[in-house]
Amino acid sequence: MVSDSENKIKTISILVPTPSPVPYTYALRADQKAGLGSIVQVPLGPRQVSGLVVEDLPDAKPVDPAKLREVTQVFDCPPVTGDMLRFIDWVAKYTLSAPGMVARMVLRSPTAFDPEPPTKGIIATGTQPERLTDARKRVMEQIAEEPQMAWTRSGLAHATGVTTSVIDGLSKQGVFSEIEIPARPVVAKPDISFGKPELMGDQRDVAEGLAATVSEEKFSVTLLEGVTGSGKTEVYFEAIAAAVAQGKQVLVLLPEIALTQAFLERFHDRFGAEPAPWHSDLAPRMRERIWRQVTEGQIQVVAGARSALFLPFQNLGLIIVDEEHDAAYKQEDRVFYNARDMAVVRAHLGGYPVVLASATPSVETRHNAEEGRYKYERLDKRYADAALPTLKAIDMRKSPPQRGGFLSPALIEAMQETLDRGEQSLLFLNRRGYAPLTLCRACGHRFACGNCSAWLVEHRFRKQLVCHHCGHHEHVPESCPECGTFDHLVACGPGIERIAEETLSHFPDARIIVLSSDMMGGVKRLRLEMDAIAKGEADIVIGTQLVAKGHNFPNMTLVGVVDSDLGLANGDPRAAERTFQLLSQVTGRAGRTGKKSVGLLQTFQPEHPVMQAIVSGDLDTFYEKQIDERERGKMPPFGRLASLIISAATRMEAEQHGRALRGAAPQAKDVMVLGPAEAPIAMVRGRHRFRILVHGDPRTNVQAYLREMIGKAPRPRGSVKVQIDVDPQSF
Ligand code: ADP
Ligand code: ZN
Repeated sequence: MVSDSENKIKTISILVPTPSPVPYTYALRADQKAGLGSIVQVPLGPRQVSGLVVEDLPDAKPVDPAKLREVTQVFDCPPVTGDMLRFIDWVAKYTLSAPGMVARMVLRSPTAFDPEPPTKGIIATGTQPERLTDARKRVMEQIAEEPQMAWTRSGLAHATGVTTSVIDGLSKQGVFSEIEIPARPVVAKPDISFGKPELMGDQRDVAEGLAATVSEEKFSVTLLEGVTGSGKTEVYFEAIAAAVAQGKQVLVLLPEIALTQAFLERFHDRFGAEPAPWHSDLAPRMRERIWRQVTEGQIQVVAGARSALFLPFQNLGLIIVDEEHDAAYKQEDRVFYNARDMAVVRAHLGGYPVVLASATPSVETRHNAEEGRYKYERLDKRYADAALPTLKAIDMRKSPPQRGGFLSPALIEAMQETLDRGEQSLLFLNRRGYAPLTLCRACGHRFACGNCSAWLVEHRFRKQLVCHHCGHHEHVPESCPECGTFDHLVACGPGIERIAEETLSHFPDARIIVLSSDMMGGVKRLRLEMDAIAKGEADIVIGTQLVAKGHNFPNMTLVGVVDSDLGLANGDPRAAERTFQLLSQVTGRAGRTGKKSVGLLQTFQPEHPVMQAIVSGDLDTFYEKQIDERERGKMPPFGRLASLIISAATRMEAEQHGRALRGAAPQAKDVMVLGPAEAPIAMVRGRHRFRILVHGDPRTNVQAYLREMIGKAPRPRGSVKVQIDVDPQSF
């Protein structure tokens, strides 16, 4: 034990971004003040990194002081709260990730901790100027209104319509003295009485229920279920108002960045101020400002993507998860987590409510609500009795498209009628590009990606063949690379570009907008296009799932789904649920403002339970069947699942390590291990992938089981990597 009374070393445990399962020990100098939750900068190898203090050790551990490295600096920011520290620990244990890698999602780079420099400003001293010109008079009148107000030179000049030299002249005469204006918050405080709507019937009851739940200030989960347009957002705004009134911070999670902007504007209409946004597209400086102001409690409401769940709020009192069923909440990279599930955990550890909102909840959430584990609030009608679209399946066997086309006569006719009425149509196909497969009619050669097990998708506007997994792209050749024949390459199947071409041939004078994520110009361009559509500057919109979510197009009265069966083709048991959710969401884009509207689903299997459920609108029966099926198959929530994804540069290495892991699987009653089998996409970015699926009964501790299995297996060597996915999305 090293203990030197002259020069006592205090040691401290710090989470640093490494795969280590335990924190590292560092030395704290006597002049440094850090405790549990402090954020510090420490050396790690040759680098300096941000770390999180997780244990304040009472005295020196038996570490060689020569090897112990010192904390570089303790950042000047409030410590991470106790519930957040427990959350980091919980997420690490649940996802079997290193706690330092989870902490990394909470911390920022050291520059975020630099206090924001104050702005130079001026304030009136009470001294009157010697001589009053017109310009000076205007300035003096302005400051007489609010003598205590601090101004910037240019701000005051601008407000009074004078040049800054007028202000400088007054300063010389002692009319102003210089002061420092502290950096202002990124967003203004929400005003809970601003734009408060008059809620109707059910809406009012549900809003009151939510507000009451919020004022209990204890953990609860509420499922807020309601058809699109029923006012879920308006209603949960009242829960937010209740939390804000109590001085709490609020987090709203949204599945897509593209949705954030529309949400910010809507929030502004209700609260007179925007919430702070949080997503990967923010400029770095803005991210840092928002992070800091959230930590300091200056920002009250944040609306963001899943990563916002790891912001270190000071005083969080409510989490809303909008579109809770959305697959975008699942992160499948480094730490594999589902932000919806982890939001429930975070609220539980912090002791406050969480609200899960959706028109088509996940089967798991619906089941929890039905079983009474969650509170269950429903809005069954659209606001102002706006009718839901009439939904019909078009049987493609009976109403086949023209040769080479993909749109049935019934759909084209409906589009013509919509056009004649001066209303808008949406054609939905969840596939970017022109055609999903290109082949040579002479030799049968198919164009595949060299790095992934996937066909190359033709993008005709870009004149390229593109891999949608790794981004590899090549020019569309004129002849077949296999047999050399010219002019025999054919496009198989439709993408939205091809649908646009076909639409144009039927409606040459219509204004058509094509929307997809590979559009040039990113989120900004997308917003402009969305605004244009809302303003009626398009007759027909053709888009991927980007347009399915959360946008209001008042004049859109027809939604046509080009291929309703697309998502059902793979063998995933979640396919029915996902297809149902997507089709409900897409068709829900129609008739948002009360006009009569129609949703048409092109399908080869109108008798499929998903089509039946959509057309009948009978959610209860659909969920009943889904829950039944899950129960029989012991699938979640009636069973536990985890998967191991083994990847390597060669197929053999990946498979061998998969076998070794399988061999290390402990014997356990009620646990079944499947695989290693080739992953659904067997190769991505040049890495071969195998998958092992662990399936247990609901009480199985899958984490303990996996830990034992991985512990017994040889360590991955060479290019082999193992990723752990607890509660995988597809199974
Ligand atoms: P959801 O989130 O369930 O899809 P929204 O909250 O977006 O529904 O409501 C649908 C539309 O109806 C929105 O344009 C919303 O502003 C409007 N709306 C809903 N309830 C009210 C209300 N009580 N007063 C005024 N407008 C409302
Ligand atoms: Zn590829």
